[in-house]
Amino acid sequence: MDEPGMVAERPTPEIEPHTEPFWRAAKERRLVLPRCTDCGELQFPPELSCVHCGSPNQEWVPASGRATLYTWTLCHPPLLPYFAAHAPWPVVAVTLEEGVRMVARLVGIPESQYEMEMPLVADYEDLDDERALVVFRPALS
Ligand SMILES: [Zn+2]
Repeated sequence: MDEPGMVAERPTPEIEPHTEPFWRAAKERRLVLPRCTDCGELQFPPELSCVHCGSPNQEWVPASGRATLYTWTLCHPPLLPYFAAHAPWPVVAVTLEEGVRMVARLVGIPESQYEMEMPLVADYEDLDDERALVVFRPALS
């Protein structure tokens, strides 16, 4: 239970064997995607097997980091305590240049300036010594 006056810690993602390459790359300021070595399809988020053909065989390939804004929502409380303190919390879905979608955060502009299909680029936000989040910001034109 939270005690009055206690600042909630930001929840951090678990690093699992099948997601470790993604987190390692993000910490190095690179965006990588799992690609099935049997059918060749990209997917995100990483899964233990290909969502297209079921194969467990995959490799990690670099993504350009370029994306467009697909949609977004504003999350209002109730949320986990950390996020409730920062509400309303915008969450976006972006379409990567490679065609797969990611749910992330858009930084650098207020939600009132979000526009459908606006060009974005990946950026990275350190959480701790192991983890960096992939976020997106508007692309400079
Ligand atoms: Zn496949």
